Amino acid sequence: MKHRQLAALTAVLPTVLSVLLALGTPAVQADDWLPPLTPWQGDSLALIQPKHPWVTPAELTNLTETADLAQMQAYLQKLVAQSDLLRLESIGKSPQGRDIWLVKASRQPEQIGKQGRPVLLVQAGIHSGEIDGKDAGLMLLRDITQGDKKDLLAQVDLLFIPVLSVDAHERRSQYNRMNQRGPLEQGWRNTSTNLNLNRDYAKLDAPELRAVLGVINQYQPDLYIDVHVTDGEDYQYDITYGFTEPASSQSPNGASWLQAVYRPALDAALTAAGHIPGPLVFGADPLDFKKGINNWTATPRFSNGYGDVRHLPTVLVENHSLKPFRQRVLGTYMLLEQSLRLLGEQGKALQLAKKADEQARSAQQVLAYQQAAKPARMPFKGIGYEVVQSPISKGPYVRWTGKPVLYQDLPVYQFTEPAVSVEVPKAYWLPVQYQDVIKRLQLHGIEMTVAAQPVQLQLQQLSASEPQFSSKPVEGRMTVSARFSRAFRDITLPAGSVRVSTDQPLGALAVALLEPEAPDSFFSWGFFNTMFERTEYFETYALLPWIEQQLAQDKQLAAEFTAASKADKQLQTDGNARLQWFYQRSPFYDQSYLQYPVLLEQ
Ligand SMILES: [Zn+2]
Repeated sequence: MKHRQLAALTAVLPTVLSVLLALGTPAVQADDWLPPLTPWQGDSLALIQPKHPWVTPAELTNLTETADLAQMQAYLQKLVAQSDLLRLESIGKSPQGRDIWLVKASRQPEQIGKQGRPVLLVQAGIHSGEIDGKDAGLMLLRDITQGDKKDLLAQVDLLFIPVLSVDAHERRSQYNRMNQRGPLEQGWRNTSTNLNLNRDYAKLDAPELRAVLGVINQYQPDLYIDVHVTDGEDYQYDITYGFTEPASSQSPNGASWLQAVYRPALDAALTAAGHIPGPLVFGADPLDFKKGINNWTATPRFSNGYGDVRHLPTVLVENHSLKPFRQRVLGTYMLLEQSLRLLGEQGKALQLAKKADEQARSAQQVLAYQQAAKPARMPFKGIGYEVVQSPISKGPYVRWTGKPVLYQDLPVYQFTEPAVSVEVPKAYWLPVQYQDVIKRLQLHGIEMTVAAQPVQLQLQQLSASEPQFSSKPVEGRMTVSARFSRAFRDITLPAGSVRVSTDQPLGALAVALLEPEAPDSFFSWGFFNTMFERTEYFETYALLPWIEQQLAQDKQLAAEFTAASKADKQLQTDGNARLQWFYQRSPFYDQSYLQYPVLLEQ
């Protein structure tokens, strides 16, 4: 083949191939392998308006496909241009350079967060394959601005992030989520740098999450809704949602509002529209659902755990992946609409609850919870199952039958028993050299003062022992846990070091990030791993004469060594251990080895 012919063929090949692919590969049908579908009809189906002049891209497919970013941007730009109620702005760029969009909906879009009106922040696509919130939000914005739902903004302002994980949203495929019934093409779970954004709330590695924190700090929303889709067990509920329960909350007033006001109102509205709302479901035994579910208390790496520790009432929505995309989008629409309505009626009460949490100061703070000994019980709308032996896996698996089953009193294991707690110090001090951590504390909105001069203080220093490192990276980091002993020392900190008071609205967040035993502290995420590397060593020819001189001068040292040798067999026989014993007690020893660099002011 001549070179020119090859060039011509190469030019048409992509078109030929895409036509062949379009003809030859029918759309993937998840029904072929997923458990049986329960038929569903609900009043919310009437929300779909294919004939509307402002029909959304997803409605054009009867909610079987989802808009790509270009379609979404084009739609939003046109919608915003036609309405005084909307603004569209970029809140940051993704690692691949895409804009992350924020839609602001208000009767006074320039005044959001400034006039005391309740603010609802809705975030879709943090896991971009779980995209129901985007298409539901577009329909709702259409109905607010071009339909009959303007009243939703009478008392409330809405901030809407239609897609947070924008790079992953464009990694679209029919093969991204095999456990999920639509949309046809779905985005990917992790970002383009392979981070899971819903593990990043405490450490803030991802620019996407930093953009969200910018929105939270600027507008101080009163309620935060983070929309996902979950797989796992089969059950009747099409929309599950939850939040940190009051018993294990750092924001008990906000949590009580969510429990006593939000959930009953939302459950009623969703049920009235034909949906089946339920709690977040995490089966306790993967092979035996009737053993119950875990009511997990999220740590601050997750949106709901993070919201709780910073006194931002946060609802985690997990639509059920086995329900069709259409049903899930409509349930999400109802949840968002009803959340706006409720904030219009009850927003002031929520704001008071939030204020009370921000003003509270605790002497003690629980850093982690464990399962309570005795489970609670709840009625649960389950789906039947049988445990079957597979000749392929040569093991048992759960086959869901699709038949409804009602559990009258399913055990619910609450994680409300304190596992680790600490006395809250007056303040934390970070030496000036830890600018990366200081910067992240600022991104969280935590207030701090910078020492203009060197400071000399008696501070509590924490010394680590028995460190346990992860055996492989977790979100790209070598995580660690350790035991700590605490002692007061006279410390001199260089100018530029910062003092983080716990007497501030974000004091509990500061504790969660700076107490090293907290599961999502910067220490736990590996930001201080250099403290585990000792530097400077001795040569035996230098140390031995030094020890001889010390023993001759210091009778107490000799006595201590004799006592230590009696108690420790290794010191009797192991020459290196004997030398180390003296070296560790010498002024030559690395004084910062195993010392947590953050200091506590009590
Ligand atoms: Zn998710």
